[in-house]
Amino acid sequence: MASRSANLLTSLDYSVVQQCMHCGMCLPTCPTYMETKQERNSPRGRISLMRSIADGELEVTRAFADEMYYCLGCLACETACPAGVKYAELFETARAEVERTGAAGHGQRDFWRWLTLEVLFMRPRLLRFIGRLLHLYQSSGLERLVRASGLLWLLPRKLRELEPQTPRIAPENSDALIANVEAPVTKKYRVGLLTGCVQDLAFSNINRDTADVLLANGCEVITPRAQHCCGSLHAHNGAIELAQELARTQIDSFELDSLDAIITNAGGCGSHLKKYAHLLHDDPAYAKKAQQWDRKVKDIHEWLVQIGFRKPEVGCGVDTVTYHESCHLCHGQKVVSQPRALLKSIPGLTLAELPESNWCCGSAGIYNITQPEQSAKLLERKVGHIAKTNATVVATSNPGCHLQLRNGLGDVYTVTQPVTLLAQAYRAEQG
Ligand code: SF4
Ligand code: SF4
Repeated sequence: MASRSANLLTSLDYSVVQQCMHCGMCLPTCPTYMETKQERNSPRGRISLMRSIADGELEVTRAFADEMYYCLGCLACETACPAGVKYAELFETARAEVERTGAAGHGQRDFWRWLTLEVLFMRPRLLRFIGRLLHLYQSSGLERLVRASGLLWLLPRKLRELEPQTPRIAPENSDALIANVEAPVTKKYRVGLLTGCVQDLAFSNINRDTADVLLANGCEVITPRAQHCCGSLHAHNGAIELAQELARTQIDSFELDSLDAIITNAGGCGSHLKKYAHLLHDDPAYAKKAQQWDRKVKDIHEWLVQIGFRKPEVGCGVDTVTYHESCHLCHGQKVVSQPRALLKSIPGLTLAELPESNWCCGSAGIYNITQPEQSAKLLERKVGHIAKTNATVVATSNPGCHLQLRNGLGDVYTVTQPVTLLAQAYRAEQG
């Protein structure tokens, strides 16, 4: 059993651990609590468990590990909490403690964690190479042949069930679509653009749209080549040291002093990217740079509203859209009104508000892989609400949500992002 002195929850500032006053206001906003109505599946219950471990009253057990991985990390509880509980910090530390103690078990799990967190998402060129192979497999007809041949039955059951959810890989990555430096007609700002890893593999076109919208608003766009993962996947899954390594790499890949902002268009990444100062607070070489970094990171919608973006003169070819909020954009970054402002600025476009727009869709990082049943229930609930809006176009701003909705909605619907619709409207102005 790991020693209590090295317990990561013990090392947290105690004010964070004891912040919860047990009022229960977060309970109706917590998707896992609303599913089971069990106290241990609620924010209050989880925080109480974490505190008991920090106080040395409980050990980190398999049951605790399962609870931490049943939590979506959606942060709806942070929004609801009147006491300002820092649930994200508690949750990431608790998961890191689970991994440090090995309480979640070993075997196959260790292999998949090693392959994804330590190999693929630490090596952008390798990740892209795998992405190219996958694109070839998908676009050449081989995928169709393999599916029709029944060969997929040779896969283990879990992999077989996940196979239909494999993201469609974009034909080109962001580096092929966006130059290292792109200049607007009249320059007012200089910004760095983060291309992400899943966004880059599956939605490089959205990165291109983001660059176009920035250019149309007077921003010179600097896009470093072959960018690394931001580390959010690592931090959310208890691999804090790898997350720190990736944060240092990200900071080094931008000339911070020369930029007005560093732009992210992925809600999940942005929430993590804005917390590098916390992640690197005890690193003497990076603590100051990380503070500067946090001040400059902006979500694309947040930045556009901040600089007073230009409203397009013509429409984008879509009449009605509904908007699903990425948890880490609305709860993690509190960016709520800005994506709606973008959508409402487009002539002829009606925004049909989605009931429970800020309720998790079940994507939650890799939750759809680790907790497929609960993820499917959340997706079904989301799809039901989308159907009520009568919109057949759904905008969201996180690649995980985008993929999850696409898997749940089928071909009748178009899933897109607010920035793509804005880019379409700007392009339509050119005739
Ligand atoms: S992060 Fe989401 S699932 Fe986890 S406790 Fe908070 S509201 Fe519940
Ligand atoms: S709302 Fe905040 S203070 Fe109240 S029980 Fe939930 S986490 Fe604790």
